Amino acid sequence: MLYKNPYCRKMKNSFIMIVSCGYCKTDIARYQKVGRGNLLRMHIDRIIEGNIDFSKQPKALLCPNCKEQLGTRITLKREKKEVYKMLRSTFNTREES
Ligand SMILES: [Zn+2]
Repeated sequence: MLYKNPYCRKMKNSFIMIVSCGYCKTDIARYQKVGRGNLLRMHIDRIIEGNIDFSKQPKALLCPNCKEQLGTRITLKREKKEVYKMLRSTFNTREES
């Protein structure tokens, strides 16, 4: 993958999720998901690898293949963290075995 996050550390109660584009099925990122439940936000610091250069923290999360928008970057004020708020039904997730 294009981007690798050297700072990503293993977190408790997490598993690795592959996020892919819902339009063209291109893999977007390997993500460390904490807790069960749907992916609503993708924390940039939990992205392990990606096919997008997340080090540039693009404002819109666009599929590198079909350019559809899958999410928007927002700042969580309380935690001062950059996350992608994922747009509903534009992406797929699967657990990495
Ligand atoms: Zn796509």
